[in-house]
Amino acid sequence: MLNDYLWFSKDYIKVGYIGKDQTFVEETHNSLGEAFISLYEYFKPKEKFPSIRAVIVPDRNEFDRLVKELLKVDIETPSRSSRIAQTQKTDIVILSPSAYKRDSIYEYRPDEYRRLLFHEATHVMEEYISPNIETQQRWWSEGLAVNLSTQWRYEDEFREPVLKGLKNKQIPNFKEIQEDARLSYQWGWTIVKYIEELYTPIMIAKIVKACENGDVFNILGKDIKSLEKEWKKWLTNKEKGSYIEKNRNCWRSWS
Ligand SMILES: [Zn+2]
Repeated sequence: MLNDYLWFSKDYIKVGYIGKDQTFVEETHNSLGEAFISLYEYFKPKEKFPSIRAVIVPDRNEFDRLVKELLKVDIETPSRSSRIAQTQKTDIVILSPSAYKRDSIYEYRPDEYRRLLFHEATHVMEEYISPNIETQQRWWSEGLAVNLSTQWRYEDEFREPVLKGLKNKQIPNFKEIQEDARLSYQWGWTIVKYIEELYTPIMIAKIVKACENGDVFNILGKDIKSLEKEWKKWLTNKEKGSYIEKNRNCWRSWS
């Protein structure tokens, strides 16, 4: 299935590639390596580093083939042009930045690529240490990845809907964020960040390691309604300024 691939292997990460995508191998390996070191610091798991296999695929067709055959993940075909990476256990399939122009909605930027790999590494780490990843909700997993990768700070995709919602006083409630895929990507990170700030990163790690049924709030020992109220207060706190407002200077736009 991976016969055409060449491999670059160092420490516990191996990166597969074809032909000219060798350009991205070192960058991919380094970014994943840095991400996992930082995620180990953050989560302090008992488990040791697993072996990670990352495959840089040359185009959309190959992306879809490996997502189905290697990862055994069921996605639409052809997959959406906003999909550029997919994980399953310790495997990561990555659309090569050389295919972005033709096969995605993105443009290659080294910083964004590094954050994307951190995002994917977060999914791998969460799955590795979670007692039951199948029950974990999308808003939590995506929120965790967007938060820890710092995508929330730099990328309009996650930042703009929140700033717009705050400005227009249109903030979705937890239920809407849980149930709507788009909202879970856009707003999930604000809940994770809220928990991280109010309850510390230790609580985030505890939730990932202990949550067996997808009920994150239960581990906090709080009922959803009062937590939701506190989160909204934190989000809209003008005096102290929320994280998002404070980091407004990092705002930059897509071309
Ligand atoms: Zn994700």
